[in-house]
Amino acid sequence: MPHYLTTIGLEIHLKLNSETKIFCRCKNEQNFETNPNTHICPVCTGQPGALPLLSQEVVEKAILFGHALNAEIQPFSTFDRKNFFYPDLPMGFQITQFYHPIIKNGTVHYRTNNYEEEKAVHIHEAHLESDTAKMIHANGKSLLDFNRAGTPLLEIVTDPDFTSAEEAVEYAKEIQRIAKRNGLGDADMEKGQMRVDVNISLRTDENAPLGTRVELKNINTFSAMKRAIEGEYHRQKELLESWNQIAQETRRRDDNNGTSFAMRSKEDVVDYRYFPEPDMPPLILQK
Ligand SMILES: [Zn+2]
Repeated sequence: MPHYLTTIGLEIHLKLNSETKIFCRCKNEQNFETNPNTHICPVCTGQPGALPLLSQEVVEKAILFGHALNAEIQPFSTFDRKNFFYPDLPMGFQITQFYHPIIKNGTVHYRTNNYEEEKAVHIHEAHLESDTAKMIHANGKSLLDFNRAGTPLLEIVTDPDFTSAEEAVEYAKEIQRIAKRNGLGDADMEKGQMRVDVNISLRTDENAPLGTRVELKNINTFSAMKRAIEGEYHRQKELLESWNQIAQETRRRDDNNGTSFAMRSKEDVVDYRYFPEPDMPPLILQK
């Protein structure tokens, strides 16, 4: 049986702890302990005619984070619409930075092997975006809390530089430390302040092209992240050893059962139809 090398890339969504939401003056609640739908306004509930206004504090926190990632802060960045429908997204689109993110080309150093080895990962980019509302499913009902809608996220995207679950987890812990140490967010995974998507593929040797990539979502703790990566390694390995093809798809991890299931495949990847957000001018930063 061949030995397989694992290639992993991470996308981490990190909640910034600014006073207000990213595009309105509503309180950016961190713990969701107050009553639902109390920090809302026409902007963050997507009322017709309500216009977004970018928070300076959110931009400053993103810049600080960029410096902590040893990255290049972009003097010119833009906001774009990612179009899709879901009940937690009343506008029908999410405002994100697709074409010109605020942060590019960083390097994060982290330690593995009980802090004995130092490793580095290249940060491809980091961009600002607004979070969706929170959906709560209880007693056969689905409830919506818009306190989370429009709260600021920084999405940090690495190159596929990790070769093991340990490396990916230690890097994610380092991102959490960077957020906390610099006062940019609590990055508490169990409170949804830090959410991790894992991209993982297998190949037989270093010179082989990268294998088909599978994205795992819905990972809520560091230990779940390790289990998710190891579970996906074995799932893909078994498929490859039985001469089956790996489907390029997004899978939702169910940590309670130790399994994952396909959410959407390459064939029906949503066409988000990104386009520049007409209500937001480019963000131009000067020294
Ligand atoms: Zn608001």
